[in-house]
Amino acid sequence: MIVPLHSLKPTLKIAVQGLEPWLDKIYATFPVPSGKPKPLIQASVALTRNELTGDVEASGQLTFTPFVNCSRCAEFIPWPVTTDLNARFLNKAPPDGGVADLDEEALDEYYFQGDTLDIEPLLNERIQMAVPMQTIRLSDDKTSCLDCGLTVGDDRVYGDDTDRKPPSPFSVLAAVKVKQ
Ligand SMILES: [Zn+2]
Repeated sequence: MIVPLHSLKPTLKIAVQGLEPWLDKIYATFPVPSGKPKPLIQASVALTRNELTGDVEASGQLTFTPFVNCSRCAEFIPWPVTTDLNARFLNKAPPDGGVADLDEEALDEYYFQGDTLDIEPLLNERIQMAVPMQTIRLSDDKTSCLDCGLTVGDDRVYGDDTDRKPPSPFSVLAAVKVKQ
C-alpha cells in the first residue's frame, strides 16, 4: 500500500481488513488448499512522522493464519501468525540496489519512495519471518505429527517415509549395538 507522506498529519492510522488488492502479493506466497476459505491478513499500522528527522515511525500488529505445508507429512496446516510491525522509514534515498547493510538494525529500516512510502514490504517480511523453517503441529507428547500421526524423531529427516513400516528386529539390534 503506497502511502503519500502528506497524508501523515503527523500520524496516519491504517486498518488492514484483508481484502485490499495490494495484499495479493503476500497471499501469492501462501497457496490455499481447495475447498478452504482464504485466510485474511488483519493488521493495524500507525505511521507517525518525526518532525525533527523527517523519518516515519511505523508501529502496529498483524494477525494472519496462512496455510503452510507440514514439514513432516506435507499436509496443508493452518499456521497462526501474530507479529509486530515496528519499523522505521528513513527520510533518505535507498542505498544502491535498494538493500541496506544486512545488520540487525537494517531489518527494521525501510526507505521512502519519492514522496511516498510502501507498507507492503514491511507486512510481507514480518509474515515470512514469523513462519519457522520447520512447520509441524506436534502431538501432546511431542513424539508425532498431530495431522498424520507419523513419528517425529530428533534425528529423523522430515518427509522420509521409512518409518511407515515397522523396523526390522535386526536393524533395531544394530542400532543398539552402535550406541554401546
Ligand atoms: Zn504432518
